Amino acid sequence: MRIDLHTHSTASDGTDTPAELVRNAAAAGLDVVAITDHDTTAGWAEAVEARPEGLTLVRGMEMSCVALGADGWPVPVHLLAYLFDPTDRGFAEERERLRAERVERLRAMAERMRADGLPIDPDAVLASAGPSAGRPHLARALVTAGVVPTVDAAFAELLAPHGRYYAEKADTPLHRAVSMIAGAGGVSVLAHARARKRGRLIALDDIRASAELGLGGLESNHPDHSAEDRAVLDELAAELGLLTTGSSDYHGANKTIRLGEFTTDPAQFEALVDKASGVPVIRA
Ligand SMILES: [Zn+2]
Ligand SMILES: [Zn+2]
Repeated sequence: MRIDLHTHSTASDGTDTPAELVRNAAAAGLDVVAITDHDTTAGWAEAVEARPEGLTLVRGMEMSCVALGADGWPVPVHLLAYLFDPTDRGFAEERERLRAERVERLRAMAERMRADGLPIDPDAVLASAGPSAGRPHLARALVTAGVVPTVDAAFAELLAPHGRYYAEKADTPLHRAVSMIAGAGGVSVLAHARARKRGRLIALDDIRASAELGLGGLESNHPDHSAEDRAVLDELAAELGLLTTGSSDYHGANKTIRLGEFTTDPAQFEALVDKASGVPVIRA
């Protein structure tokens, strides 16, 4: 059984459409794939529709949250939410708040650029952005307008958190997200919690507190984790009775990692499915 529980489609920042994603997952020899776009379930229906025979599909999402850092300051973290009921009122309202907030934030940054004389049209940027509007859309507009040569340069020079155009995000507090996902019948798994190259790390005690609120698992086998990082997370999961997952965090052509390059143990996957009551796994 080859199981990849964390992938992105064009519903967020991947390059495969949801239909291409499930076809590519089957072609890559996967038995199980989860679609987990950033902060949206917009790709679910197409993935369900296009799912090839023999592939098991898990519907999920990767949520942007804010937690307590190991240094005592707030730190952004990603929380995977699996098999939750998308119509659950409280959780649906929070996703809608985040979606509206992302659009406002992107508009604020684009307006500041235009006010400074940069050739950026806020309406055009927003029109290009779709359901998970974010800085990548503005970065691409800056490249297209010839302001910077690459998306990386846009992030480094104009869109960085200390930069002149940056607007703060109002992400969901981790503890609140964990509770909401549990309330919607889903299972939450903290994504790439030791990925140092992404920045500062969450405090281990904040993971312990989240476990008490219903956190379901820790993503351990991830491309951004060293063997030591995995060992830390596996040990913590054992201490707290959490499950552990593994996944490629596939983004299509936006990253070099391939579907199924990192995988989840079948017993851990079955434990995850057993915990969920929101929407069913769509079995092969
Ligand atoms: Zn992530
Ligand atoms: Zn991801």
